[in-house]
Amino acid sequence: MRTPILLVHGGAWAIPEDAAAAHENGVRNALDAGHRVLTRGGSAIDAVEAAVTVLEDDPTFDAGRGSFLTSDGRVQLDALLMDGGRMKAGGVACVERIRNPIQAARLVLEQSPHVYFVGAGAEEFAQSHGMPLIENAELVLDRERERLKIAREREAAGLADATFSGLEDDKGPETAIPRVIDSSHDTVGAVALDTDGNIAAATSTGGTLNKTPGRVGDSSLIGCGCYADNLSAAVSLTGWGEPIMKLVLGKWATDRVAAGTAPAFAAREAISYLHNRLGGHGGIILLGPDGRFGMAHNTPAMAWGLATEHGLETGLKI
Ligand code: ASP
Repeated sequence: MRTPILLVHGGAWAIPEDAAAAHENGVRNALDAGHRVLTRGGSAIDAVEAAVTVLEDDPTFDAGRGSFLTSDGRVQLDALLMDGGRMKAGGVACVERIRNPIQAARLVLEQSPHVYFVGAGAEEFAQSHGMPLIENAELVLDRERERLKIAREREAAGLADATFSGLEDDKGPETAIPRVIDSSHDTVGAVALDTDGNIAAATSTGGTLNKTPGRVGDSSLIGCGCYADNLSAAVSLTGWGEPIMKLVLGKWATDRVAAGTAPAFAAREAISYLHNRLGGHGGIILLGPDGRFGMAHNTPAMAWGLATEHGLETGLKI
C-alpha cells in the first residue's frame, strides 16, 4: 500500500502581499479536502477533483466564480482531469454556465466515450448528466469587472498587458521576459498519488484577463497544462498559456520522468525550457508514481500546498 501524496497550486505570478493570505488559505483548504479523500483510501482522481472543486469555489482564484473576464465581460471556463491508472481523461472548454467545470470534466471522463467537449455542447452534456446550469452572471464579480475595465483602458492606451502583446524589452523572443507583475496567473491544479499507487492530475482556469471569447489556453489541453499516466507522472501547470501549449510542456515534463529524471529536477528543467525556448513564465507541480515530486516556478511567487505522511505544508515560493 502506498503512502498518499497530494500537491496543489493556486497560480504562479507576483502574488502581492495583500493577496498572500487568501492564496495560502485557499490552497490549505484544497489540501484538506483532497487529503481527506486520500487518507480514507479514496482514489487519486477523486482527490484531485475534490481539491480543485474547493479552489474553483474560492473567488480568490482564476477558476470558477471570480475568474478573469473575456474582452466582452463574460466568464469562460476550461478544465481537464486525467486518471493515470485507467488512462482516462475528461475535459471541457469555454463553458459559461457551469459552476464547477472540473466536475463537468469528471462527468466527461466517466460517462462519455469522448474525451473533450466545448461550449454549448459541453454544457448540454453536463446538464443531461444531472448537472444544473447557472447564469453566467453568477460567476462574475464586480472586482473582475473593474479589472477588465482597467485592462481595456490600458489596451486602448497602447499599454496592453505583456501576457497578450508585448515583452518587457526589445532584445527578441529569446531573451525578453514578460512583465509578470502585470499578468496574474491564478489558475488552479492538483496532482495526487493514492494508496493503490495510481496517480491523477486536474487543472481548472478562467484563462487570461481580457481574452478574446473562444480562446482556449493550455490548462485544459491534454499534455499541455495537465497530464497523468502511471507509467510516467502527473503534472499540472499554470502560467502564460500560449508558450506552454506550443511546447506541450506537461507531457514534456512527464516524459522526462519516464526517462529517469527525478521529478524535482524535471520540474525545474521544464520551467527553464519554457523560458529559454519561448520567453514564457509559469509554474509546475509534478508527481511520480513512486511518490517523488517536484515544484518550480519562474514567477516571483506560486501558491502551493503539499500533503504527505509528514503533514500539510503551504507556501508562496519554492
Ligand atoms: N495557463 C492559463 C491560461 O493561459 C492561465 C493561468 O495559468 O493562470 O489560460
